[in-house]
Amino acid sequence: MKLKPGLSLLAALIFAGTTVFLMAQDDGKKSGAKQPAAAKAKNAKGKGKKGKGLPKKELYSGEHIKALIITGGCCHNYIFQTYALGSGVGELANVEFQVVNMGGRGTAAKIDLYNNPNWADGFDVVIHNECFAKTTDPEYIRKITEAHRAGVPAVVVHCAMHTYRDAEVDDWREFLGVTSKKHEHKSEYPVKITAPDHPVMKKIPTDWVTPTDELYIIEKLWPNAKALATSVSENTGKEHPVIWVNDFKGTRVAGTTYGHSDETFRDPVFIRMLANAIIWTAGKDEG
Ligand SMILES: [Zn+2]
Repeated sequence: MKLKPGLSLLAALIFAGTTVFLMAQDDGKKSGAKQPAAAKAKNAKGKGKKGKGLPKKELYSGEHIKALIITGGCCHNYIFQTYALGSGVGELANVEFQVVNMGGRGTAAKIDLYNNPNWADGFDVVIHNECFAKTTDPEYIRKITEAHRAGVPAVVVHCAMHTYRDAEVDDWREFLGVTSKKHEHKSEYPVKITAPDHPVMKKIPTDWVTPTDELYIIEKLWPNAKALATSVSENTGKEHPVIWVNDFKGTRVAGTTYGHSDETFRDPVFIRMLANAIIWTAGKDEG
């Protein structure tokens, strides 16, 4: 494995024998860093091939799903979250992760990655776990949604829902499947599963209670989105979707508003749900 030019290597680790995990990071300042030119593998949709000689994993043993994690920005421990996600999911499924951690730790950034119109090429799924609420440029936001509109699936986590929150355009929210602009206090929230037969909820216990996390207020569930699980506000008694799927112009998107705390990323149930979401959005759940 090799890094693309312009990106500094923070970690190159191999988990569970096969899960490749690369991380690139910049400091959010102008650095001249180039975006990783994604591998020119064809955009795999449909069933995963049975991987010959690959390790048997509980949830998916086919050829590696190529996943790009995009992370960075305000308010969360993204290095740990990325490590926990990559290693935890890698125990359950054959997934090859590349990680882009860019934009610093503030609330606004435009990362170089998206200047390449083909930034998502070669990936089976993109995981958005970034947090830039004050970035508002519609042209920039559409560079991201355009790749998904063109067919690259996504899993969206926690502060991705408040990313581009101050933007006037709705493109990002339509892609997510939810509109959320604030959250309530941290607590341990029971998760009520509303779509137990959906592949994303496979083997998620019906009595799951989150570790200490934030409840995001969902103002709107978009018409092509479907809630898979909800939690109840301790303040208002209102039920809010906390896990959902969205059909974004024919592209699969799965989301969760949980994922604030390190404890949540240490929770095997949360990791299993994310693994299910990666497998399902990438179209490999029947493989
Ligand atoms: Zn948070």
